[in-house]
Amino acid sequence: MIRVRGLVKRFGGDIVLDGIDLDVPEGALVALIGPSGCGKSTLLRCLNGLETPDSGEIEIDGERLGPGNAARLRGRVGMVFQSFNLFPHRSVLSNLTLAPRVVRHRSREQAEADARLALARVGLSGFESRAPATLSGGQQQRAAIARALAMAPRAMLYDEPTSALDPERVGEVLAVMRDLDAGGMTQVVVTHEMRFVREAADTVVVLDHGRVVESGPAAEVLAAPRDARTRNFLGSMQ
Ligand code: ATP
Ligand code: MG
Repeated sequence: MIRVRGLVKRFGGDIVLDGIDLDVPEGALVALIGPSGCGKSTLLRCLNGLETPDSGEIEIDGERLGPGNAARLRGRVGMVFQSFNLFPHRSVLSNLTLAPRVVRHRSREQAEADARLALARVGLSGFESRAPATLSGGQQQRAAIARALAMAPRAMLYDEPTSALDPERVGEVLAVMRDLDAGGMTQVVVTHEMRFVREAADTVVVLDHGRVVESGPAAEVLAAPRDARTRNFLGSMQ
């Protein structure tokens, strides 16, 4: 579904992604972990066409990401950020219908029907007319996930989706990702929630200084990391 080869990204003189290879099979849940500044967000942003790589290849659904199709492919990959980024002056429903209507030219009826389905998938039926500010953090993040789902993406990317939440709200967002996984969604998650990674991820990819230092089945990598940098990182998480 997502295939990355030799991805290089520089900012000024700094090499931030240093030849990344990554495969995310259809329906997989891949956790991306590693120390602060190792390039996790930059990698997600490249996958979503928000950053342009200096070299290397990214294929989404068999199609190579390039200048000509970045906008179209971006529509196939939903992205969710730490800070939910809902439009504050729009209702929840209107947050979900805006992009389908403007970008996909859906009718209001169709966009609203799709939005209600997306809200149901994240457990927010009945919240259509609420203003984002009246929602809890967990509800806002679920609304942000629903907004991405309303575009019918082929894959979802999450950048620390629970880091801004109160501890008691973390579980409800993780539960949504588990449900989407059970429904076959392809997902890449940057997270510090190691229990979630161990229980829910198929594969863990460990980045350090812009390189993949280790990847493999979550249970194996977390229980018996082979690379010293993985051990260091996991040790720092306890
Ligand atoms: P964190 O865990 O703290 O979120 P990260 O792994 O997501 O870190 P990135 O945000 O991808 O790391 O940043 C990787 C490196 O690239 C850092 O050194 C950062 O300062 C640098 N960087 C990221 N974006 C830019 C930018 N737009 N301009 C210049 N440098 C950048
Ligand atoms: Mg980051």
